[in-house]
Amino acid sequence: MADEPGKLTRRELIARGVRGAGLLCAAGGLGALVTRGQAENLVWQIDPKKCIACGKCATECVLNPSAVKCVHEHEICGYCELCFGYYVDQRLDDQETAENRRCPTDAIRRAPVEDPYYQYIIEEDKCIGCALCVEGCQQFGNGSLIMQVRHDRCLNCNQCAIASACPADAFRRVPASDPYLLRLKKQGNA
Ligand code: SF4
Ligand code: SF4
Ligand code: SF4
Repeated sequence: MADEPGKLTRRELIARGVRGAGLLCAAGGLGALVTRGQAENLVWQIDPKKCIACGKCATECVLNPSAVKCVHEHEICGYCELCFGYYVDQRLDDQETAENRRCPTDAIRRAPVEDPYYQYIIEEDKCIGCALCVEGCQQFGNGSLIMQVRHDRCLNCNQCAIASACPADAFRRVPASDPYLLRLKKQGNA
């Protein structure tokens, strides 16, 4: 299908995703350092390979809404037309109606790229960290939706309340200068 004027191709979106992930790391690291100072140089983060999307990130954080959000690693996303992070397992029909969508707060925006690909964008201000989309992507997709502590919000508690409750032991301290644990980075590709 020919590209529509002004519409990005999937290749261009993937390239932007890689740059976006880099910016996420850089911005988060800078924010952590600026707001908490050089002396406190470790912050909490979630290992996406350990997270089992249990839902406690939404309920156990001392902040409401939680400082943990869904982050989309666009560079490893399949840009699937039928995304199980976006849609429930059993759709009532083929429509993009509310009952067919997983996210309880409508925080995932779906946009066509080029036939038959779609981009899925997390609107972070709406995300409550429930991990329902992450569960779907883990079960039926490639795990490009992950949970991450967002350091523009996190208070960096001495003992993270979610870490204490996490059934998968997925939380650990990481350097504030490199505060995100993306799947691609962990595989040594970024
Ligand atoms: S509490 Fe642990 S296992 Fe549950 S969603 Fe959060 S990081 Fe994942
Ligand atoms: S399903 Fe839950 S974790 Fe995923 S975007 Fe919506 S609120 Fe955030
Ligand atoms: S360190 Fe505190 S503010 Fe940050 S995610 Fe954990 S409980 Fe929430």
